[in-house]
Amino acid sequence: MSNLENDIKYLKGVGEHRSKLLHKLNIFTIRDLMEHFPRDYINRRSAYKIRDLKLDQNCSFVGIIVSVEKKQFSRKKNQLNVVLTDGEDYLFLTWFRFGNWFLNQFENGKQIWVSGVISEFRGSPQIVHPQIEVLDDEELKLSFWKTRSVLPVYHLTEGITINVMRKLVYNAFKLYADDISENLPQYILEKFTFTDRKTAMQKLHFTQHPADIHKDKIRFIFEELFFIQLMLARCKYGHEKKLNGNQFILKKTFTTKLKHSLPFQLTNAQKRVIREFVEDMTSKKQMNRLLQGDVGSGKTIVTVFAMLLAIENGFQSLMMTPTEILAEQHYRSISNLLSNQPEIKIALLKGGNSKYKRELKEKIRKGEINIIIGTHALIQKDVEFKNAGFLAIDEQHRFGVQQRSVLSHRNNNPDLIYLSATPIPRSLALTVYGDLDVSIIDELPPNRKKIETSYYNANKNSVVYDKVDEQLNLGRQAYIVCPLIQESEKIDLLDAESLYEKLKKHIFPSRKIALLHGKMKNNEKDKIMENFKNGQIDILVSTTVIEVGIDVPNACVMIIQHAERFGLSQLHQLRGRVGRGSDMSYCYLIVYPPISEEGRERLNIMIESNDGFKIAEKDLEIRGQGDFFGTQQSGIPIFKHANIIRDRQLLNTARILAFDLIEADYKLELEKNNILNKVYFKEYFEREKLFDF
Ligand code: ADP
Ligand code: MG
Repeated sequence: MSNLENDIKYLKGVGEHRSKLLHKLNIFTIRDLMEHFPRDYINRRSAYKIRDLKLDQNCSFVGIIVSVEKKQFSRKKNQLNVVLTDGEDYLFLTWFRFGNWFLNQFENGKQIWVSGVISEFRGSPQIVHPQIEVLDDEELKLSFWKTRSVLPVYHLTEGITINVMRKLVYNAFKLYADDISENLPQYILEKFTFTDRKTAMQKLHFTQHPADIHKDKIRFIFEELFFIQLMLARCKYGHEKKLNGNQFILKKTFTTKLKHSLPFQLTNAQKRVIREFVEDMTSKKQMNRLLQGDVGSGKTIVTVFAMLLAIENGFQSLMMTPTEILAEQHYRSISNLLSNQPEIKIALLKGGNSKYKRELKEKIRKGEINIIIGTHALIQKDVEFKNAGFLAIDEQHRFGVQQRSVLSHRNNNPDLIYLSATPIPRSLALTVYGDLDVSIIDELPPNRKKIETSYYNANKNSVVYDKVDEQLNLGRQAYIVCPLIQESEKIDLLDAESLYEKLKKHIFPSRKIALLHGKMKNNEKDKIMENFKNGQIDILVSTTVIEVGIDVPNACVMIIQHAERFGLSQLHQLRGRVGRGSDMSYCYLIVYPPISEEGRERLNIMIESNDGFKIAEKDLEIRGQGDFFGTQQSGIPIFKHANIIRDRQLLNTARILAFDLIEADYKLELEKNNILNKVYFKEYFEREKLFDF
């Protein structure tokens, strides 16, 4: 083990207390600290004169404090004015609301660095709430940094000041720089004209010319993306090498019958995707595909084609969903699609241990059931399949723990697709699903009308309810979604139960209204969904349980209460519950001020766009990669340096290089890939398991 893996607490200057603080910055080892790169640099010999600062522009400046003045207006309201000089002119700094600890940093005669947008105050330049750094600091004066002009600026945490961080970084490099080893082979360094790893790291921390370090930053971003892509490439080629999938024959018995029974023409995109499935399934290789398509693009039907192809070859087909509601929904729509093929037996496998379930499992084991749909109930140990030939999995299972136990049942490598309920931005798909082939339905069925989307303040709810009334009079149905099930003392949000009561008693007394949420018993939920589908319910008040999959073409109004609280992909998914028939559909986003800038941006995107791929890109941009799938998605690579939105070009480059490399040298055993071999098998090989389905 190299010294770089040593616990950070043993580094000179750290110790128990500071090491705990550093953990908050994800710094656990010496190496983590060395890879904690500056987020910016300041130049304390900044050549700027105050008279050169430009109005309305973001500027930084180093000057001497000539005045510190505190004004107290009330107990909480105060103002701090600090004046800086460059020896000729004055720059005014102002803060509103500040604490004593903040005030205490300022002293006449001290040198400070400031940065912010220049405005004007009585004819002189001013910055309100600038970023600052006091350069006359004991810690700094005593350190290596005292003579440097350019100083690095780091992300910090409370208790670790900038000068402490600088000191620790310096110590780490002084003691351990020689332990830094290269992890990219010479030919790749040359291809990109990258500097060696040690030099690049030193430059990033200690540069005196911040304009020259662009390439070195790129180097570390590339590294991260490249190793992940190597891993994905190995997963993909590893699968393909096995070559032990089933080789089906397109017998066209059940599949063709389904095609002829459809009340509509498949879109070209659907046809293309079916061809892609058929090609994989009739070849020796095991299919491993991600199926992407916008809400309502018709993913279910193409999935059923694949199911039937396996079944006409004598195999069983499975579908695993994240929720029971969705399993039931699929059960219903698949049964519908196959209603003229009664020889195909379909079952919904639920949790529990009833007599019915025991009998069902027996039938599944004997192969008397052809299509089995269920949640993770499917992968319980006591469920045995006669011969699973095809498996469709919802995206949410991609990284679940369940996936590995499913393996025990997959004794004959069924062909496999992941269905993604919402489109996934390309850059994310390449990092998370990058080992899979991808099929995309990029075309909606014809005659789909745009869903007219608008937003209203909560005090305009009655206007929206009038519009709902109009649609109900035409025989249509509506959804109303609330963020909570029950009233909560902690958060002041409209909940489904209260809204349901209110609508029933006061607003729509003559309509049939029902409540649906995740805490209800399954048979209750079934009953309600069934009645809504039959048109016996006019308005369904629900939580986001209806988010995925629900398909009721007669419902044409979607009201989302507290729309400001939902993420973009979720809003789009909810909106996708309407617009499934040929009627004009409406989505009303009801918002409860105050609404953040970001919230407003989300709402505007919803109004402008109906395109799920575009919305997903925006969502990723706004929320960042960590939050896109929610927190449980442990398998998403966490990048220290890369940002897959900003760096998507580089991601593509790294991907092509990695895939070509692994295709030629799967085990990384060529001489020229020696370094990669060492690094990969030490640091990344373990993670392949996450992807090994
Ligand atoms: P997704 O799962 O992609 O959101 P579904 O498969 O549930 O979409 O299909 C949505 C609706 O569109 C269903 O009612 C389905 O019957 C219908 N549909 C699917 N394909 C077509 C098509 N080619 N033409 C017309 N309607 C279609
Ligand atoms: Mg669907």
